[in-house]
Amino acid sequence: MAVDNNYRKNQLITYLFNYAYEHDIGYVFFESDPNNPSLSFKNEREICINMNWHHHSPEVPFTVAHEIGHIMDGRPNLKQYNCCLDYGGLDDEERDADIYGLHLIYQYSCGQEDNFYDPIAFVQSYAIPERMIKETYKMFKDEGEFFYIDKSQNTLHA
Ligand SMILES: [Zn+2]
Repeated sequence: MAVDNNYRKNQLITYLFNYAYEHDIGYVFFESDPNNPSLSFKNEREICINMNWHHHSPEVPFTVAHEIGHIMDGRPNLKQYNCCLDYGGLDDEERDADIYGLHLIYQYSCGQEDNFYDPIAFVQSYAIPERMIKETYKMFKDEGEFFYIDKSQNTLHA
């Protein structure tokens, strides 16, 4: 769905920017070199998103959600400035921002009544990066998706 559907991708981006606005987070989006990272400035509560990341990658909405995660992370002594070139849990802050972003998009998805019962279908539909698959399974379990059967546990008991 959302992966190759620009309309849905833009709807999600709009939702995320509205979410930022409601949480007093300023945002700037720009189109530059596809390798230029997105940024967040914690004290200023501002995120800067390169919309041309990897040539308008379908993962741009997740990037927005990730940067929002950096600002919303309330733990003390966090870096004031995050330059998110290398995603994927290089440190706890990147990982936490990833998890926040994942939950934020899931929340949006639930509001759309998409009714995903399958973590993989969810990940694909919203172009969630592959590194988040394990965390997505965990989230579906924690969220009490009662239709969702944890196949990994079943095999353990078999
Ligand atoms: Zn980051």
